[in-house]
Amino acid sequence: MTSLLIKGARILGGAAADVYVDGGTITEIGSVDTKADRTVDAEGLVLLPGLVDLHTHLREPGREDAETVLTGSRAAALGGYTAVLAMANTSPVTDTAEAAERVHDLGRAAGLVDVQPVGAVTKGLAGEELAELGLMARSRAKVRVFSDDGRCVADARVMRRALEYVKAFGGVISQHSQDPALAGPTACCHEGELSGRLGLPGWPGVAEEVIVARDVMLARHTGSRVHVAHVSTAGSVEVIRWAKAQGIAVTAEVTPHHLLLTTDLLAGYDPTFKVNPPLRPDEDVEALREALADGTIDAVATDHAPHARHDKEHAFVDAAFGMLGLETALGVVSTVMVGSGRMDWAGVARAMSTAPARIAGLDGAAPDGAGGHGRQIAVGAPANLTLVDPSATWVVDRAESASLSRNNPWHDRKLTGRVHATFLRGVPTVLEGALVR
Ligand SMILES: [Zn+2]
Repeated sequence: MTSLLIKGARILGGAAADVYVDGGTITEIGSVDTKADRTVDAEGLVLLPGLVDLHTHLREPGREDAETVLTGSRAAALGGYTAVLAMANTSPVTDTAEAAERVHDLGRAAGLVDVQPVGAVTKGLAGEELAELGLMARSRAKVRVFSDDGRCVADARVMRRALEYVKAFGGVISQHSQDPALAGPTACCHEGELSGRLGLPGWPGVAEEVIVARDVMLARHTGSRVHVAHVSTAGSVEVIRWAKAQGIAVTAEVTPHHLLLTTDLLAGYDPTFKVNPPLRPDEDVEALREALADGTIDAVATDHAPHARHDKEHAFVDAAFGMLGLETALGVVSTVMVGSGRMDWAGVARAMSTAPARIAGLDGAAPDGAGGHGRQIAVGAPANLTLVDPSATWVVDRAESASLSRNNPWHDRKLTGRVHATFLRGVPTVLEGALVR
């Protein structure tokens, strides 16, 4: 393995230092004169632990026309990620050990980020019978996060069973909180004045909040861990804040789009902005920013959801839910949270690396030498690292993406803060903002 010297990077936005990496591990930090096989000039750049995404849809197997593990891995590396969790709603669904191992192995073969499969909670995401949770946990993929994402585990008894089951091996249930009785499958616009005016089926915030409230009580009852995926309302934030104060084992994520985009974007019926849960009004967005800054919301997760053109280009009601996010997440968080002074780079490292790695159990070393994500940038730690240019201002162009899909809600938007380089265990996957291979 080769050696790497990162010269003059501001670690977590603090003082500049040189970081020397040998054999994939950080061996020296400070003023380093040792010669390395590769030297990266990082003057003015911020060094973060490699980003970890708790919520990515890679679409393989089943919809390789929209994304594959390889193309999604490329998008992830360009976005500064060293690990992503691949959601289970593929075709077939990741609800067996074999299916999980297949996604895991495709990720290792792509070799750009550690792809960690999320297992389904229920067979076929049908919400009825528990999937092979234990077998997936014991498989080579070592699944720890389980989710029926795209659908809510609506049955309280099934959710209770799942929480009890995963407790034994330190697993966590990531819930897509959407009470189907309050927000059915066609609900696609935040319920309010606008949904009425546009004539779109309403998706009221309370449909999320009642599930979050129920699940934190089930987590308390079972002593198990629940993770709230894509929190989108101020009411959910209130519940999570209360639950954390009680010592309940709940964690939560927010997406970049819920931190910046608002429901009024739907006025033009552009399906690019159709996402589940839907974009919300300003007061929810404000509550989400505040909750991310104060740690009530632990992590930023992309919910990267690539869709082929023919699935998105429909009348709004019929178009697929979801938007791209891997390549723009850091820029959005930097613009919204750092640019406004609400968060510093240490906060970004916590929300986009340390916390998600801990929630997913990716901070330790995996048997095959992978893992070690979200660790402190210190001697002895694996060199999963991201270099960010904090002052780079760029305009997002949907044509320039490693993803196979183009449903990019950030097209034409100006962002400040851009990923410059990404290193997976000391090996550069991205340099100067471009893929190395
Ligand atoms: Zn979801």
